[in-house]
Amino acid sequence: MDSNLTLAIHGTRGGTRRLNVAVIGGSLTGPVAALLLLRAGFDVTVYEATPASTPLGGGLIGLEHTALDVLDRLGIGRHEFIAYESETILQVAVRDRRPAQTVHHTYPGRNTTWTLLHQALTARIPAGVLHTGTRVTGLSTHSGRPVLRFADGDTEPADLVVFADGRSSIGRRLLDPDRKLRYAGYVAHRGIAASVPRPDLRDFVRMQPCPGAQFTIAPVPGGCDWTFYLGCTADEYQRHFGASPTRRLLALPRHISPAARTHVDGHADHLLPPDHAAIVRATTTRMAVPVLDIDPPTRMVWPVGDGHAVLLGDALAPVRPHTARGANNGIEQAAGLAVALTQHRRYAADLPTALHGWQRRHLPTAVAAVREGPVIGDKLGLGAR
Ligand SMILES: Cc1cc2nc3c(=O)[nH]c(=O)nc-3n(C[C@H](O)[C@H](O)[C@H](O)COP(=O)(O)OP(=O)(O)OC[C@H]3O[C@@H](n4cnc5c(N)ncnc54)[C@H](O)[C@@H]3O)c2cc1C
Repeated sequence: MDSNLTLAIHGTRGGTRRLNVAVIGGSLTGPVAALLLLRAGFDVTVYEATPASTPLGGGLIGLEHTALDVLDRLGIGRHEFIAYESETILQVAVRDRRPAQTVHHTYPGRNTTWTLLHQALTARIPAGVLHTGTRVTGLSTHSGRPVLRFADGDTEPADLVVFADGRSSIGRRLLDPDRKLRYAGYVAHRGIAASVPRPDLRDFVRMQPCPGAQFTIAPVPGGCDWTFYLGCTADEYQRHFGASPTRRLLALPRHISPAARTHVDGHADHLLPPDHAAIVRATTTRMAVPVLDIDPPTRMVWPVGDGHAVLLGDALAPVRPHTARGANNGIEQAAGLAVALTQHRRYAADLPTALHGWQRRHLPTAVAAVREGPVIGDKLGLGAR
């Protein structure tokens, strides 16, 4: 550790303060936070558990205008992460496997995919900042300073630890251990198909065949991305994906059993229009995400010795996918954090007060999204309230 840094943080008020920030998680929220904090002049290191992050998925993600503006301000060209500029959501009621009624909605944003956005973000992280294959396992203090512990036994100090490590967050387990994930009783089966049901597919289409099932589909480069929400007991999940829903939070293509495939294909044949069922059947690359609930967060900031740790994104509050708020919340929280820390760095704003101001602004939105998920699920007949 460089001794100037200690002086800068613990020295007299005023002047430039240079915090050393550790960001845990290199998916979406973590890289956005890291890029914004690097721009603001902080020393940033990102630790990502997976050796290479691409296998995590490619799923469609709707981003609202505030999040899009954050990406704009990072200088990320829209063409890098938005393949289709449609703002239209087609809400289709399906009866007897035929579209019965279609309602048009306008989405206040655009659709991206995890893969496109993740690539656009990580390509901008300077060499040496992102450490992949580095799993954080603990947080303690040494001489008042927060110290991260890693799976290989290494340790690293930091003044501020930003946990953006997703639904299974070690940060949440350490800082807020009473908030445990609960399985909501249904699964988002996902597929990336190499073809489309109609060549003119440009919009996000949401199909409601009956209570207890929802199907969404949208174009992505090279084909389409679909999600099929279906009820599933915890035992079925274990049989289909090889582990319980609160342990296997993302079933990757290698975890999808033949029984899981048959289950999804059968429901597609039974409920969806034949052209959409054919797309599902033809999809080889599949994943599954158990839908989970959690108690709403009551805080985002914790003192750790003389430093701090914060939770943001899915680490703070995993929300049901129907809310379309998970990535939006993470990006908005990261932008707000950069604003608060910049006030501290440039104008010597009191750090705990700046962090609590950030929490006051962003906590209500996270709480609202956590609460909204079961309400939407209930309307769709998915999951128990
Ligand atoms: C079907 C579906 C549809 C969705 N649609 C939308 C949508 O339309 N709009 C929207 O805003 N959101 C949507 N979401 C939610 C969105 O995908 C997530 O909220 C978002 O990916 C969360 O990003 P994150 O970076 O906070 O967490 P994650 O993407 O979960 O990333 C966490 C990262 O931390 C790493 N990590 C974990 N533990 C450790 C550790 N101990 N040490 C180091 N690294 C670690 C992980 O490997 C991972 O890379 C959807 C989700 C699903 C499943």
